[in-house]
This record gives sequence, structure tokens and C-alpha cells, in this order.
Amino acid sequence: GEPLLRIEDLRTHFFTDEGVVKAVDGMDLTVPSGKTVCVVGESGCGKSITARSILQLVDQPGRIVGGAVYWRSGTRPWTDLATLDATGEEIRQIRGDEIGMVFQEPMASLSPMYTVGAQLSETLRLHRGLNKAEAREKGIELLRRVGIPRPERRFDSYSFQLSGGMCQRVMIAIALSCDPALLIADEPTTALDVTTQARIIDLLKNLQEQNGMAMVFITHDLGVVAEIADEVTVMYLGTVAEHGTVDEIFGNPKHPYTRALLSSIPTMRGVRSGGSARQRLTAIRGMVPHPQNRPTGCPFHTRCELAIPGTCDTEAPPVARFDSAGHLAYCHLFTEPAERRELHTQATP
Ligand code: SF4
Ligand code: MG
Repeated sequence: GEPLLRIEDLRTHFFTDEGVVKAVDGMDLTVPSGKTVCVVGESGCGKSITARSILQLVDQPGRIVGGAVYWRSGTRPWTDLATLDATGEEIRQIRGDEIGMVFQEPMASLSPMYTVGAQLSETLRLHRGLNKAEAREKGIELLRRVGIPRPERRFDSYSFQLSGGMCQRVMIAIALSCDPALLIADEPTTALDVTTQARIIDLLKNLQEQNGMAMVFITHDLGVVAEIADEVTVMYLGTVAEHGTVDEIFGNPKHPYTRALLSSIPTMRGVRSGGSARQRLTAIRGMVPHPQNRPTGCPFHTRCELAIPGTCDTEAPPVARFDSAGHLAYCHLFTEPAERRELHTQATP
């Protein structure tokens, strides 16, 4: 599909008493209409901050200090969301109307003071101009669509009367209530048990296919990525390490970080056929550096087995492109003279 969202060189920094934390520092992300793009990386790599930056939901002392978040949908021409007033009417309309969002903690996202039906109705009345009776009818229909049993009854329940999985279904119903062109899901299943996780993933996958909406799905779980992604962006320390189709990322990974991530989980063939394969527990050596001490050169050089001394620790890696479908990686290995590249590729695990 045509791109709906184009994040270019996004920089979101946090101005703390201890100094500037560059949580997102040069992030690119393109989301084609109707496709699911997974953003994957270890915790603390800036995935959530990227997601929150799209809708100007970054908390103080964070601030977008550079780059652009281009968005278009329906009759809306390209609009840089990063330039909109964070508390203004326009971004408020885009949140919910055009872009829906589901977060990690469903319980915390719902108010315990009002019934789930009241919270769902509020969105429907506000964004769609329905009256009370219409909102109730539409709300019950949405609860049914997200797989909530006896939705007429659940409409009048409070969040604390529901399980975590049911609360997440309610949050998904609220996010879908305005037929958004894009759904951003930030680790929507992380707080749930494994069985519920699988059900919610299936639900999101089905809804995405039925509605033809695009999805940005943020996760640290490569099994989920294999199941749900059309395209994958691998993030490391606030920036892109590698991007490609799901088949390229799993079948033909290029960046040493992607390769390390993949070798730290059961083989993808195993994951894709239900996880029966032998588990290879090769953890990535070293720790993710704190974004406050972002390494110079390639941000991964402090942990990379293939780092080229004198180059990777000083020079920002250039982009290498591998196909016309957008497979790319930021790494010095691919722009090296052929004979040295040969050597490094052989040394790759
Ligand atoms: Fe490793 Fe160098 Fe490539 Fe970074 S640029 S991933 S340090 S080889
Ligand atoms: Mg997160």
C-alpha cells in the first residue's frame, strides 16, 4: 500500500537533571496502508517513546527536538504531527479518529470510576456524534466484535470486574470505535498470560485484516513478530539497525544485532511451526548502554562481535540497501572493500 505514516529522523530527548537522555535519536519508520509493521528491540531501546512521539504523548521532561512525523489519511494531506500543538484540537482529533492506540497496561488505561460501556460510549459520542441509545447499541456491537462474551451485560461492568485480557479487549474496542486508518499497539499482550496473549494477537490480526487498517505493533517478542508482521524495523538505542519484510528479516538477516537477536531465541523455523525446535540460548553479550552514554560511531559497537576497530567506534554506519522492497541495514560491514567483507561474513555466526 501507499505510505500513511512516515517518520523521518525523529529525535525525542529527555532533559533530566543528570543530563540529556537521547531516547530516540534518528529514528525512521514508514507504514504502508493496510500493513502491519513491527518495531522490535530490547527494552529501553526507544520503541515506546517512538510510538508516543507519533501522537505527541511524550511525558515531561521529554520533547521532540528534531525530525518529522508525516501522516495522511482520507482527505488529509501530508501533515507533520510533530509540529502540531500537543494540547491542541487537531492532534486530539487525530488521536482516536484517525490513529487508535492500545497500551501495555489495559487495567491502568481504563478508569475504575465508570463502567466500560460509559467509557466506550464517551468516545462514540465525542468522535462520532452518536446519541446515548445509539452509542450503547454501537458499543455492544464493538464489544461483541472483540470477542467479549455477553456484551450486553459487560457493557455495564467496571474494569475491576474484568480480567486483564477482557480489559485489553475493551481497550481495543475503544481504539477501533472510530475506524482508525492506523492502530498503534505498544506491547499490548506483555502484561497478559500466554493463552490470553495468543488470543489477543489473533484478534488484532483478524481485525486488522477485516478493517484493512495499518498497524504499528511494538514488541520485544520475535515469536509475535513472526506471526503478525508484514514488515519489521529492528531498533537499537533509539535508532534503526535494520528494516525489511518479515521474510527477509527472519530468512536473510544482515545486521549483526538482528542476527544476535535471532540466535537468542529458538530457531525461527521452530517458532513458526509452534516452537518445537531445540532452543539455542545464546544471549547477546554485554548490556544495552544507557542512552545517556550513547556510544559514538555505531551504537552497537560495544557489543558487536564483528566491530571493526577504528571505524565502528568512531564513524556512524552508512545505510546499505539489499533489495527493492526496502531491506536495509546501518552497518559498516556492507560498505567495506570486498575482501574484508568476505572475511567478516565468514566470521558471522
Ligand atoms: Fe557491528 Fe560495526 Fe556493523 Fe555496528 S557497524 S553492527 S559495530 S560491524
Ligand atoms: Mg516499552
